[in-house]
Amino acid sequence: MKKKVNEITTLYKCRSEGSRNNGLLKSCDFQFEFVDGFPPNCPLCGQKLHVISKGRSVSELMRFGYNLHTKKEDK
Ligand SMILES: [Zn+2]
Repeated sequence: MKKKVNEITTLYKCRSEGSRNNGLLKSCDFQFEFVDGFPPNCPLCGQKLHVISKGRSVSELMRFGYNLHTKKEDK
């Protein structure tokens, strides 16, 4: 199968907590990048996965740069 270059993937993360899988799994931190359209269900515990937004938003990037700048200046 040929891999598409511009394949859109979405990062999903399982955030289920509490007793799952007969108590063997206390909390599930499973995360995986699925191709868009893949049914987002955790293969470990079967719970629905949450979508994690990829990358930083512009405002976050600006804030990050600002923090770096102020840290450099803070001497
Ligand atoms: Zn899970």
